[in-house]
Amino acid sequence: MFGAVVVGLGVAGSVRIRDMLAPLPGSAAEKLTVKGFVSRRSMGAQEGVEQLSMSEALNRDDVSAAFVCTENESHEEAVRQFLEAGKHVCVEYPMTLSYKAAVELWDLAEEKGVILHEEHIELFTADFKWLKEKVEGQKLQEGVLHFTGGSLKPRFGFLAFSGIARLTWLVELFGELSVHRATLEEDQSNNYSKMTAHLLTADNRPLTWIEERGPGLPRAKKINFKFESFALTELSPPASRGAVGLFMQDLVLFGAKLTGQVSAEELQTEKRRVQHCLNLAQTIQDLCQK
Ligand code: NAD
Repeated sequence: MFGAVVVGLGVAGSVRIRDMLAPLPGSAAEKLTVKGFVSRRSMGAQEGVEQLSMSEALNRDDVSAAFVCTENESHEEAVRQFLEAGKHVCVEYPMTLSYKAAVELWDLAEEKGVILHEEHIELFTADFKWLKEKVEGQKLQEGVLHFTGGSLKPRFGFLAFSGIARLTWLVELFGELSVHRATLEEDQSNNYSKMTAHLLTADNRPLTWIEERGPGLPRAKKINFKFESFALTELSPPASRGAVGLFMQDLVLFGAKLTGQVSAEELQTEKRRVQHCLNLAQTIQDLCQK
């Protein structure tokens, strides 16, 4: 069994505790047992799980894994501390707000011989699975993915990093990408921002990624992917019933990594994708802020 702590008791952290208290029967998630949580607020026990200080979480022998579920800005420091202490880490995306820091953390994890896992629940969604099936074997001519959502919460970082889930979709669908151009429109007084990244596939097909956030904007994704003989303009997966929760699926994957059920080759492929996406995000940010 792997004793685990959850750092940051917001939306994601609370789900992590709930899932560890009732793991998917017969899955690798059962190998994780929650030992406590860390919060900046003094909260007392939650659902029978005790509050720990950060130093208890880092030093207790019965804690061998940590879930980092804080705002994006504080991921890097928390992940580094747990890796230094020799603990496995599952961090909610994005792992860090800089590419360089992410590479350092992977190196540290390898040096310590522990698992570093970045959550990507967007890859478990019905929308993504449906898209992946449609796109399989097709040659993209050009495409657009336009995400809208409410104003970004403070401490969640630049749009290219906070929206890494969308970028991860594009890379999983169309392979490794390069950045051709990127721009940012901002109206700080109205909490509005729009990033437009012009990307290219390996065979130079244009792919535009837009992240637009502002008060009252609906949380939605619009797509327009053109192929030789058809276009995908709507996300319309069949309704799925009784599916396992997205965070639970991620917990099962993390548990599988801890118990050696994921091959070294698969780990390497995933690491390459995570680092590639963070590298693209860094390039986009640098271009927008030039
Ligand atoms: P949130 O604002 O609800 O929660 C963040 C929590 O972390 C807050 O309770 C805050 O007080 C706490 N916190 C911050 N710094 C801390 C520290 N140093 N020590 C202890 N606690 C600290 O945000 P959220 O929606 O839960 O998102 C958290 C992370 O999960 C983000 O990285 C986000 O990108 C990722 N994520 C969230 C979702 C989701 O559906 N909410 C989905 C995928 C990924």
